[in-house]
Amino acid sequence: MKISQRAQNILPSLTLSITARAKEMKKQGKDVVSFGAGEPDFDTMANIKEAAKKAIDEGFTKYTATSGIIELKEAIVKKFYQDNNLKYSPSQIIISNGAKQALFNIIASIIDKDDEVIIPIPYWVSYVEIVKLCQGKPVFLKTNNFKIIASDLEKTINKKTKLLILNSPNNPTGVVYDEKELKEIAKICVKHNIAVISDEIYEKLIYGKKHISIASFGKEIYKLTIIINGFSKTYAMTGWRLGYAAGPEKIIKSASKIQDHTTSNPCSIGQKAALEALTGPQDHIPKMIFEYKRRRDFMVDSLNKIEGVYASRPDGAFYVFADISKLYNKEINNSFKFCEKLLEDAYVASIPGSAFGDDKYIRLSFATSMDNIKRGLERFSKFCQKLI
Ligand code: PMP
Ligand code: GLU
Repeated sequence: MKISQRAQNILPSLTLSITARAKEMKKQGKDVVSFGAGEPDFDTMANIKEAAKKAIDEGFTKYTATSGIIELKEAIVKKFYQDNNLKYSPSQIIISNGAKQALFNIIASIIDKDDEVIIPIPYWVSYVEIVKLCQGKPVFLKTNNFKIIASDLEKTINKKTKLLILNSPNNPTGVVYDEKELKEIAKICVKHNIAVISDEIYEKLIYGKKHISIASFGKEIYKLTIIINGFSKTYAMTGWRLGYAAGPEKIIKSASKIQDHTTSNPCSIGQKAALEALTGPQDHIPKMIFEYKRRRDFMVDSLNKIEGVYASRPDGAFYVFADISKLYNKEINNSFKFCEKLLEDAYVASIPGSAFGDDKYIRLSFATSMDNIKRGLERFSKFCQKLI
């Protein structure tokens, strides 16, 4: 049987496949330290688990409305108002099986064949493949210190440009856009009538700076923006698969139609758990931030002590994007080979920068214990020293 052209064009997710490989090696008894997964090492909070158990016991185990239960939509509406100063109605919200599915449904609702989608480099791995799946054309935008330069953005826009994908705090770089930068981007998108997907899934994992949503700069940009967010990172709920999108009602309705015919509603039990996550105590968040910040600083400082390695300090998310290109040689001459060799020789898993559009870098996640970080970086350092 022949595989469709559309499926053939798609690459597997390196973030997921390397993480799976590291787990497989661990199962075989190898002492692998994984800096691969973009996944909190904290457990889902007990009150959230209890809410899920209660939902099961009370028989909340049937289909719900495709786009999610009203109580959860209302809690999300409240969150947007409180955290982002944004007013939505529940009809402007869709809850999906992870932010990933929300992204897919929204992109599929906006993009026609050959429409151009501007994706700043470095980008999160799935944006490109989702755009390709929707038969759109990814157009890559170079950045400066990992941030969009407004004039470059404007130069990239043409008649076919439909969408910009913005991600702050950013995966893989951890950069956080400030108000001035976002306002400049918003102005250009409004001028050229370009829709914006603003992926804000790391909004709470931020170390000192303030998260601002681009949708909050007035009516015009609000109408053009679809915000993506979810429960995976803030509430350590990666496996529960719950994310959401907020935006113009007609886009949300269309995304819901796609969801009708693909997965129907996100898990009913998970939705009750997510409701508890949003409405229950939030005091785990500052604790998580404190711990991530401690690990971030240790990781960045340790990496910068290694000859040939340079890492800037991320302001958000839980990744360090480290430039290792000075260590390349005849044999190890790209980020994929570097990560492969690092895993095979030193049992340290990381993600090649090529997955994010920049082959000079690798991504190291600090969503793992301080002990693991210390052990992994010691091995990493020895591995790098051999390459000098
Ligand atoms: N956006 C970004 C930037 C991410 O890093 C991730 C990774 N989980 C997602 C979206 C998708 O999150 P999920 O599907 O787990 O909600
Ligand atoms: N988003 C996380 C990452 O970038 C999880 C894996 C994935 O969904 O790609 O590692």
